[in-house]
Amino acid sequence: MPDQIPFNRPALVGRELEYLKSAVSSGHTSAGGQFSERVSALLADWHGAEDVLLTTSCTDALEMTSMLLGIGPGDAVIVPSFTFTSTALAYARTGAVVRFCDVDPITLAADPSSVEALVDERVRAIVTVHYAGIPGDIEGLLEVSNRSGIPIIEDNAHGLFATLDGRPLGTFGRMSTLSFHETKNFSCGEGGALVLNSSVDVDNAHIFLDKGTNRRAFMLGQVDKYTWQSTGSSFGLSDLNAAYLLAQLQARDDVLRERHRVATTYRELISPIADEFGLQLPAVVPGTTPADHMFFVLFSTSAQRDDVLQSLRSAGVHATFHYVPLHSSPAGRRFTDRRTECPVTDDVSSRLLRLPFYNELEGPSIERVVAALVEALQTT
Ligand SMILES: *Cc1c(COP(=O)(O)O)cnc(C)c1O
Repeated sequence: MPDQIPFNRPALVGRELEYLKSAVSSGHTSAGGQFSERVSALLADWHGAEDVLLTTSCTDALEMTSMLLGIGPGDAVIVPSFTFTSTALAYARTGAVVRFCDVDPITLAADPSSVEALVDERVRAIVTVHYAGIPGDIEGLLEVSNRSGIPIIEDNAHGLFATLDGRPLGTFGRMSTLSFHETKNFSCGEGGALVLNSSVDVDNAHIFLDKGTNRRAFMLGQVDKYTWQSTGSSFGLSDLNAAYLLAQLQARDDVLRERHRVATTYRELISPIADEFGLQLPAVVPGTTPADHMFFVLFSTSAQRDDVLQSLRSAGVHATFHYVPLHSSPAGRRFTDRRTECPVTDDVSSRLLRLPFYNELEGPSIERVVAALVEALQTT
């Protein structure tokens, strides 16, 4: 068997273990400890946000966006079909229906004209995903939002520290969400964050996070005891996870530099053969600094993608496909009030392959991945 090149490999990038020890010895390991405060402050500062709340996952942060907007039975939310289940699940969980829009074939982000066609008085939010950390037509989405008065939520699980025209992704919508799952650029095993760009959401967000209590107002000395105020859950991230995460985020420049090296090497090696084999690579959007969350290739047919995937696996290279369209999934069909066609999503989903991608993926391994890719293309 050839040496295996995994798809992803989580790594220590700095002071994670030291901070973990310090969190334990501080005696505060639940949510809201000193490490959580430092991570929140760092993320709020980057986004220029009103507040950032750390959550157990991006899925939970998305669920909080639904609760904050008071979305429930009778309401609809527009979500791209080309995304992870969480983006839709969060709204279905609070009782809303989901309407699936299609994506742009170049950026793979929500297509404003597809969004606009789904807008009516039931729609309470428009969710966009910056796939691979690449922004789509944000201006177009903001125009739909401004015309209709429907807020935008950014599922920014892939795009932390990416910018568009100097402005961080995650600051364009009323709120945005982040993921610190093992597979993301910055990780603490499982974790997430809710970025609040509007001050009107701050108090309620803390109540929802604190199991429905006004504990934060109590901690701030605004009330003399805290009580059950409303709905909520146990959404807060443990300070153990926050300690690990702070170390990851402090190593931001190193992580971004390594990921940029991996992405750039892939692009330099694959670009020269892209035309010959009909390959499409991740879009380079003018005015952006990328997050380099992943590197994918779009093949000319799905049969070719499937063949290449098999050949790479036999060569010990763990490439993988990505999202299965949500609009035609069993739950997607159940939790909608309007069955839509998403031809770009169907097409892209069947032709896309993600290549191994992690901070420590070295040049020779990248060359081996590309050599295996070329060999697969020549023999299929
Ligand atoms: C990873 C991911 C999520 C879910 O993140 P969790 O932290 O695992 O809940 C949601 N949306 C997108 C686009 C993702 O990639």
